[in-house]
Amino acid sequence: MLVFLWTLPTTLIGLAAALLWIALGAKARIRHGVVEVHGGWLAKRMLHAGGFAALALGHVIIGCSPGVLDQLRTHEHVHVKQAERWGILFIPAYLLAGLWQLLCGRHAYYDNPFEREAFAAEAQPVKACEAHQQRQ
Ligand SMILES: [Zn+2]
Repeated sequence: MLVFLWTLPTTLIGLAAALLWIALGAKARIRHGVVEVHGGWLAKRMLHAGGFAALALGHVIIGCSPGVLDQLRTHEHVHVKQAERWGILFIPAYLLAGLWQLLCGRHAYYDNPFEREAFAAEAQPVKACEAHQQRQ
């Protein structure tokens, strides 16, 4: 319960994003204690504009398809655990870590320690949504 409350500010941001996704046609489900949102108009935009297939905000994971959510669950649940650990500081810490990597001449995403921990936990980090779409 305390972990849930500690993570709540980040989860509320995730829920606000989820409501926007759902308003534009996405669907929601609960898997492994997390709200998962997938599909809809924004799902295609997040992949093409942002270049990412899934995003974890507290106890909410937004992905471009149910298959991608299944495929990236290990990676995204590392971010859920990070949000539980960092609480309200998670998003600022994540962004500052990426900025620090940039200032040190490294990649803001792939060298971000939060991402490195998530990539270490799973085997297929890149372009999962595109690979999934090609299989369908
Ligand atoms: Zn990640």
